Amino acid sequence: MNESGSPPADLTEALRHEPNEPGADHRLPTRTDASALEYPWAHPPAIGEVVEIAHGIGWLRMPLPWGLDHINLYLLPDGAEGEFALVDTGIRSKETKAAWRRLVGTGGTRSKDGRIHLTRLLLTHHHPDHLGLAGWFADRYGLKVHASRVCWLYARTLWFDKAPEVPAEVLEFFHRAGFSPEALERLRAAGWGRYREGVERLPIGVHRIDPTEPLKIGGALWWAIETAGHAPGHLSFFDPKRRLLVSGDQVLPEISSNVSVYPSEPFGNPLAEWLEGLARLRALPADTLVLPAHNRPFRGLHPRLDQLIGKHVERLGGVAEMCREQPRAAVEIFPALYRRRVAGMEYMMATGEALAHLHFLEAEGVLAREPDATGAHRFVWRARYQAQEVVERLAKITRGQEETAPWTSIR
Ligand SMILES: [Zn+2]
Repeated sequence: MNESGSPPADLTEALRHEPNEPGADHRLPTRTDASALEYPWAHPPAIGEVVEIAHGIGWLRMPLPWGLDHINLYLLPDGAEGEFALVDTGIRSKETKAAWRRLVGTGGTRSKDGRIHLTRLLLTHHHPDHLGLAGWFADRYGLKVHASRVCWLYARTLWFDKAPEVPAEVLEFFHRAGFSPEALERLRAAGWGRYREGVERLPIGVHRIDPTEPLKIGGALWWAIETAGHAPGHLSFFDPKRRLLVSGDQVLPEISSNVSVYPSEPFGNPLAEWLEGLARLRALPADTLVLPAHNRPFRGLHPRLDQLIGKHVERLGGVAEMCREQPRAAVEIFPALYRRRVAGMEYMMATGEALAHLHFLEAEGVLAREPDATGAHRFVWRARYQAQEVVERLAKITRGQEETAPWTSIR
């Protein structure tokens, strides 16, 4: 979901979930191939069904109205038999609410067969497919919501950011990225402030999750790992004893998370943050079972992180090369990022991703921005892109994390 809330969610998801196939036309490296990942569960649960995976943890799916048709949610045993903390909620929709009502039962917290009793709600990040029903759970079941401070501030801010017209500074943002007058007109027509369409009104208060302290859930200690790049204040939850990682959208096995520059931080460098987050997760044990928000639970965290890092590092090379040929605006580098033509409202999300790559290279000193006569920002080649240096820097972050992660001191 776009954080500004203005483009339709289905289109934003369509881009976000572009498959990570080997992309010969982009010289995408695959330091490891997909066979390095192992999926212990061949079949996902049906919508509203709970499958028990390791250590009594429940895996369920809720529907999404997009090309990507599901989100995975997890139930972490929390207290007595049948009591669970829930990670994420699904998007606000009739279908998701109906599925939850069947699972949890109406007017109470226990379903007819006594299977599910929810104790609290933990959120990974502010995107509507993850916290769309947080307010509904708080109202209907009295659940306390636990989230990072940044997640909560973003969610509440976006929920209230509704305006009759697309703000001028947003139009300016896309103008700088190279939008034509026609593309700007389409943007204007799409309107502003659609985040709340997928998100029920949120409670005012939240229990802040502190990444420096473990979360006691049932008999287990989970550590929140805060990363950014896909979403500021994104939390993954790691249980070092049982080597389990609920990874949210920070690491997905088959699709690559959307990493975009948004008008809310128009000169930000989210790709650097996202890569840093991947490098930190690389410090987790190799046999960690990863419970992602999309696709299926898997083992093979290290090869998957290597793949994601490798692909992005390589794609950056393609972007640098395009700008070396001639100065480019963001909308002109799509061929270095996507195998298919970007059209319609996907255009906006692709622009965010393109800017993320350009800003990364700008920060590296590879590119410099120069406004042209129309006011669009063109990125001019300045120096060679040092892919190996980026990889080495990330490896150093991994080593630092291995030494300093809070759970390493706890045996
Ligand atoms: Zn997300």
